[in-house]
Amino acid sequence: ASTDPGYALERESRQDRTLWRFAKRAPKTYSITYRVESYDPYLSPEATFVSDRRAVALGYSTFLVPLELSDYLPCTIRVRIDAPKSWPVWTSWQGDGSQFTPQSVHELWSGGLVAGKFKESRLESAHCGVTVLTEDRGAARGLNVANRLLPVIRESVELFGAAPNSKFLEVMALYRTMPMTDRKSRMMGVSENNSFFCLATADRYQDLEQITLLAAHECLHFYLGGAIVPKPKPPFNNSPELIWLIEGVTEYLAHELMVEASVMKPARFNEIVESKRKQVKEHEYASVSLAIAAGKFNRAETYQVVYSKGFLIAQALDQYMAEQSGEGAFDAALRDLFQTHNFNETHEWVTASEVKAIFEAHCPGAAAWIETYAEGSVAHPNVSDASQSE
Ligand SMILES: [Zn+2]
Repeated sequence: ASTDPGYALERESRQDRTLWRFAKRAPKTYSITYRVESYDPYLSPEATFVSDRRAVALGYSTFLVPLELSDYLPCTIRVRIDAPKSWPVWTSWQGDGSQFTPQSVHELWSGGLVAGKFKESRLESAHCGVTVLTEDRGAARGLNVANRLLPVIRESVELFGAAPNSKFLEVMALYRTMPMTDRKSRMMGVSENNSFFCLATADRYQDLEQITLLAAHECLHFYLGGAIVPKPKPPFNNSPELIWLIEGVTEYLAHELMVEASVMKPARFNEIVESKRKQVKEHEYASVSLAIAAGKFNRAETYQVVYSKGFLIAQALDQYMAEQSGEGAFDAALRDLFQTHNFNETHEWVTASEVKAIFEAHCPGAAAWIETYAEGSVAHPNVSDASQSE
């Protein structure tokens, strides 16, 4: 990186990070230029990379930002990319094709940019749109995913009553294939600001249900883990008492909204519930609270149990609230939570007790229920088969 003439950066390498300092007092306005000369495919194959055909940049893994700047302070940042003229550019930031203007450091960090030879499948409806970007090998899947994802996103905007940060929810989804190392079949997703990146081994792209579920889950994080509660950061030390909401309700809604949007059959939903029950029942960590399960054990299969158990807790809470206060009480509480605690407007993160107060307002008894089963370690009641999705 270099700066305006006269303001050289001094580089200082420490054990776990590199710091750059201005050699003399920084000017009020300055530009930092990054020139990417090469990349290490073994170090960063999945996130930020540049090749002779494409480039992907995740905000937080690319940009230097002065440390004393608050994440949410409005500031003027202009990002310009010098890509070959023939490369189309997609980004989650506002801009005009080559120059972009994230509104805050948070937006700079939580955004992303994709450029070069990707195949685009785009669909749009009244309040939302989705752009799915795929590489050559996954290209045929792109439109399939967009076709299933758009109705699910539409359902989420309807559930919460509005897009998370503006009038229109514009989603950018990037699907990339990763090599199968040790013959391991893998899939993962990262949720950013109105965009998400999915990385999977080629075999996983055959499973349309799984990639749509992952997409729905990541898109729900724009609300739960974006607008309403902080971004989930495994092992969730930042908000252990809200995991049931951030991951549990997100995982439950992802399935629910797929049924609502008619991209999953109710019978299939019930099958998944059964398998999640079995998975949780057989797991050695099934009897501890979600917070402990998520925070204490940093093993992949523990996360699976956290998601599955969180799903079942959310489903049971939905049923409890329906029985106590009528059908739709759970959805109404979520909408209320979004309307009164949208970080983009309040600039303050909601607390666990504020969350409970809102659920309590929509259903007397819900706060105690959450304390006992969602935050605590008491085994949650299972939803009776008769009242599952018909
Ligand atoms: Zn998640």
